[in-house]
Amino acid sequence: MNRSLYCRKCGEASKKKGMHPEDKKMGWTGRWHYVSPVMPKGHGITLITGNDVSVLEGKGNREFIPMSSLYCDQCGEPITGDIALARTMWHYEDEPTPPLWENDYGNILPPQAVAVMDALTDGKNPSST
Ligand SMILES: [Zn+2]
Repeated sequence: MNRSLYCRKCGEASKKKGMHPEDKKMGWTGRWHYVSPVMPKGHGITLITGNDVSVLEGKGNREFIPMSSLYCDQCGEPITGDIALARTMWHYEDEPTPPLWENDYGNILPPQAVAVMDALTDGKNPSST
């Protein structure tokens, strides 16, 4: 399974482009969801420091650094605005349909809700640019 979170601009472009034919040939399938992005609890990185042996043995000093934002898996920019896109890809012959991980990163929005949000902001929704 492969999962990615995109800013709206990158997500819409990637969704429109569709899955690469080679990926389809190799048995990948996928789904897209719009989400209202929310930072999951405990989202960050753990820095492990120490000498080589202690780090390799997992015994180094650990420091948790919370992330200040969600970042787009394509452009690397912080995800801002009300709408992001989550993509899940998996091998349909070898893997069961993945459970909904998207809920960990926000509420899933039906496309109709996104259309209403866009209409209410007259296309000026900051996340649609
Ligand atoms: Zn992006």
